[in-house]
Amino acid sequence: MNLPHTMKFEFTTATRILFGTGRLNEIGGLAKSLGKRALVITGRNPQRAERFLGLLTQQGVATAVFRVVGEPEIDTVLAGIEHAKQNTCDMVISVGGGSVIDAGKAIAGMLNNEGELLDYLEIIGKGKPMERVSAPFIAIPTTAGTGSEVTRNSVLASRQHKVKVSLRSPFLLPSVALVDPELTYDLPQPITASTGLDALTQLIEPYVSCRSNPLTDAISLDGLRRAARSLQIAYEQGSNAPAARQDMAMASLCGGLALANAGLGAVHGFAGPIGGMFPAPHGAVCAALLSPVIRINLKALRERQPGNPAVDRYENVARLLTNEPNAKADATIEWIENLVRDFQIPQLRAYGIRPEDIDDLVSKAGNSSSMKANPIVLTLVELRKVLESAL
Ligand SMILES: [Zn+2]
Repeated sequence: MNLPHTMKFEFTTATRILFGTGRLNEIGGLAKSLGKRALVITGRNPQRAERFLGLLTQQGVATAVFRVVGEPEIDTVLAGIEHAKQNTCDMVISVGGGSVIDAGKAIAGMLNNEGELLDYLEIIGKGKPMERVSAPFIAIPTTAGTGSEVTRNSVLASRQHKVKVSLRSPFLLPSVALVDPELTYDLPQPITASTGLDALTQLIEPYVSCRSNPLTDAISLDGLRRAARSLQIAYEQGSNAPAARQDMAMASLCGGLALANAGLGAVHGFAGPIGGMFPAPHGAVCAALLSPVIRINLKALRERQPGNPAVDRYENVARLLTNEPNAKADATIEWIENLVRDFQIPQLRAYGIRPEDIDDLVSKAGNSSSMKANPIVLTLVELRKVLESAL
């Protein structure tokens, strides 16, 4: 048997990953080992961080708090850098959802790199590579979805340009990703739904991606198994389902590990430009696009590349999600559509997207970096069809 021997990949992640219920209690000692004064970034609800701040001061770590409400804009990051400098912070800790963690990555990165934030941004800036490792950064997710604690990009919105752009660098990977499922117990239902569906998307897209590798495959499959058995339970039982919450925290982490090393696909190719132009929650946008993308990908693969391994991979996904050993690839579509209906995820027109926006979104999505990892190159007609059926 002639096995191919040309496998080539890189796998990069946070320096340390600490996972487990109750591990937030370790934050004081961890922070102390990395610095003296922490910029603590929180979300909408800073009271939730009070116990957290106590754990830091007990260990003699001084804190300055910075709030990030909603998705971070370039100005948010600039204000955060200023606040960190004024308070002579030597490390950054983010406790919150993907937005809070993304803001923390950018602030920690810019504390140690010369020049302006815009110099380092893709598309609207100079896209200059970062030269120095970030200030020590601890990422603590409080949602189960984005996996941002183990990815190397920070998504920032530019209000002026009406786009979302990434700051990208291996230096942005957190020093510590601390994943404590207990922090997700009291997430409200709509957030459990949208972030959970983002996690599911971020497990399926890297698994069928043309850049997948054996490590990301193993991780995607483990995450998919967990999301399949636990997403609905976490949604329905909320704070009474610690095992399901643990599964979803792990599924989200797996999604982050997989996407950072294997890329994503057409769902995220669209979600980027949509998020830049319309005020829509990322996870819900991904959820609305997921089954239309799988339907078009499968059709295109069967018509043009029937031997492409992604077809079998979609079948594996179907078997994991439905728990039916003989399920066919298309069963994935139905499973997702049922879940999206149960979770009351609206079609995209609910966010103000109209048919006349399709051309613009298709051309932006076609050029996005996520689109390049889609298992097959989709035509403009196919991309239109995806958006039309998600509207
Ligand atoms: Zn996502």
